[in-house]
Amino acid sequence: MASVKLKRQSVFESEKSCLESCNNNDSEEDPPGKRSISDDLDDEPPSRIATTRYRFFRDIPDSLWNDWKWQFRNRITRVEQLAQFIPLSTEEQAQLRLVAMRYPLSVTPYYLSLINPDDPDDPIRKQAIPSPMEMTMGSMGLEDPLDEKKDTVVPGLVHRYPDRVLLVLTDICPMFCRHCTRKREWRNGGWVRSPAEVEAMLDHISRHKAVRDVIISGGDPLTLSTGHLESIISRLRKIKHVEIIRIGTRFPVVLPQRIDNELCSTLAKHGPIWLNTHFNHAREITPEAAEACDRLLRSGVPVNNQSVLLRGVNDSVEAQTTLCHALLRIKVRPYYLFQCDEVQGTEHLRTPVEAGIKIIEGMRGHTSGLAIPTFVIDLPQSGGKVPLQPNYVLAQTEGELVLRNYEERVFHYRNPAKLARTESPAEVLCPAGSATANVPQEAAATLG
Ligand code: SF4
Repeated sequence: MASVKLKRQSVFESEKSCLESCNNNDSEEDPPGKRSISDDLDDEPPSRIATTRYRFFRDIPDSLWNDWKWQFRNRITRVEQLAQFIPLSTEEQAQLRLVAMRYPLSVTPYYLSLINPDDPDDPIRKQAIPSPMEMTMGSMGLEDPLDEKKDTVVPGLVHRYPDRVLLVLTDICPMFCRHCTRKREWRNGGWVRSPAEVEAMLDHISRHKAVRDVIISGGDPLTLSTGHLESIISRLRKIKHVEIIRIGTRFPVVLPQRIDNELCSTLAKHGPIWLNTHFNHAREITPEAAEACDRLLRSGVPVNNQSVLLRGVNDSVEAQTTLCHALLRIKVRPYYLFQCDEVQGTEHLRTPVEAGIKIIEGMRGHTSGLAIPTFVIDLPQSGGKVPLQPNYVLAQTEGELVLRNYEERVFHYRNPAKLARTESPAEVLCPAGSATANVPQEAAATLG
């Protein structure tokens, strides 16, 4: 079996051969060895972005590269491995080793190939590669900002709202996203709920008839085998009051090869199933990711995107607009834009709330409403989600609103009167004694 370890021996060979071929094509504008991956990244439109696959994983045949199990087995989990791909000084490596002891590292070869190794500020890198700031700013924030432990009714089942439950089947993820809300779980090693725990969760759901919506999340539930997942989904489907099942997964982004025909036909069999994924940057929308989403959509699984607002990743109108347009092109709906939760070890990635409101303001009116996600804060202490948007109401009286539009033009808008329950529209239009009081009721109604 080929592995990243074998490949690492050839990284330098492929680098050498890349440089040799560059040297053969030297020109005065493009001096030998000066062209870097960042030039390619700048030139390419998002969906056809250059990746470093052929720079670092040149010897990995398509049959392995496209095998999600190979990708999963060959995740980069040690700083020494990482240093084979991304330039890191000895001091940086030592710092990252310290960070990884608290918040482990895990990146799939596929996602690593999207990173521009020459750019320390690369937006893909910020999501996957540990930062010393996870420790230096580590005292800020909370371990469990959403207070999920408080609403956990049986291990792995969070029941906060009457009609919805969150089912956490595993804490294993193909990648450890540096901004993860459940970062606290990484220290517990990889676990998967035992059959007895799953039984307890299913029992709770079947006894609570108000539950109509089950969200399966993690960790990432698609790390389970398709058979294992089906055994749980099919049991949920047998519970009459469960109307819909939602799966929260980042696989389409970090390991799209997982979305194979076997998985899609399983999901199609047990629909309606909705899938929420987590693209944060347009460069993540590769042909592979587009194909994964298309496969899901063709199987009758609607795909929504929940991105997280991250400093230096997507905290500008331009980055969000480019992302949302790219999502619409692959028929994925931009659903939520989350303010990054107040999680310990993520402070360096968090933005002021105003940044999110400004982004929505910069998009509204400049692109279609379909491209604009709802900006939300998930409140600490189980407060739930609160949508935030720019204030377009300048003043309001009982009969009128003064509104501004996206161009800062001001409009007066007549606010229709509230109808008392006993009043008919005709009575409001033609009060007794008025000039039109004798108009037949049907005719008066048509005036409205
Ligand atoms: S895939 Fe989701 S749960 Fe897993 S590390 Fe990333 S954000 Fe956290």
